[in-house]
Amino acid sequence: MIELLEPIGHCFGVINAIELAKRTAKQFPNNKIYVFGLLVHNDEVTKELDVLGITTIDLTSIDPIERLKLFKNDEIVIFTAHGHPEKYEHILKENNVTFIDATCGRVKRCFSLIKKAEHVIYIGKNNHPEAVAALTMNDHMYFYDINKKFDYEQVATDKPLVINQTTLSFLELKTIHEEIKKHIPNAEIVDEICNATLLRQQEIMNLNDDVDTIIIVGSKKSSNTMKLYELAFSAHPNKQIYLWENITDCQNSNIKFNHAVITSGTSTPITTINEIKNCLERKEALWM
Ligand code: SF4
Repeated sequence: MIELLEPIGHCFGVINAIELAKRTAKQFPNNKIYVFGLLVHNDEVTKELDVLGITTIDLTSIDPIERLKLFKNDEIVIFTAHGHPEKYEHILKENNVTFIDATCGRVKRCFSLIKKAEHVIYIGKNNHPEAVAALTMNDHMYFYDINKKFDYEQVATDKPLVINQTTLSFLELKTIHEEIKKHIPNAEIVDEICNATLLRQQEIMNLNDDVDTIIIVGSKKSSNTMKLYELAFSAHPNKQIYLWENITDCQNSNIKFNHAVITSGTSTPITTINEIKNCLERKEALWM
């Protein structure tokens, strides 16, 4: 038996970003169009944009500020769903370069809370584009890197706003919030995990005992996909758990199961999920 968990496939933020990119390609057929970073963290989506003539600029090994200065005024820049520092827009405006902002509304809401606060502890993953952008939104930011010990000595207030990247694991965040409350009892804690992420995590947590296999479909570059994978391991140590990026991973697998469930990160196209489901059905049919 193979079951798809809900919600699955693209979240509304990813759908909006892709639609915006497609509309931009139609609106500016004679201009070079670039996405500044990965529009969403999924290779299939990047390939789809490529076919539309939209070039993705990989920011991993370049200085974003220097690259922004190189755009010409007949080129179009699309900023990604994860958000970006406001300074990026200022540079393009100075050079009369048109830009399109595909930042997800849910991320923008988080940024606006950060801007209004006096002091902010921001919980996130180091170098994730959303965290990179968020950390520029207030002059009094203290970064709580989820993979490091936090230095409480640096916090210059007893009532900071505590806020987080939208795609973290809710269990991990709960533990961090408890720790912060012990050190700073008056901290104002706001949970900004986005529902598109949270609901998928809750579905994984609430699986029945008869499910023996969990397939997570998504890119290893996707924060929320990796959080689903980590959560599945910690919640279900006795089930088989796979992280597959595309159908090739399924085809190469010797998987056997009685009851498999499939879930996905929010940047995974439904076509990839259906291909993997079909591949699993073919494998199941072989041994039945
Ligand atoms: S996961 Fe949530 S915050 Fe991120 S793009 Fe999707 S809807 Fe927006």
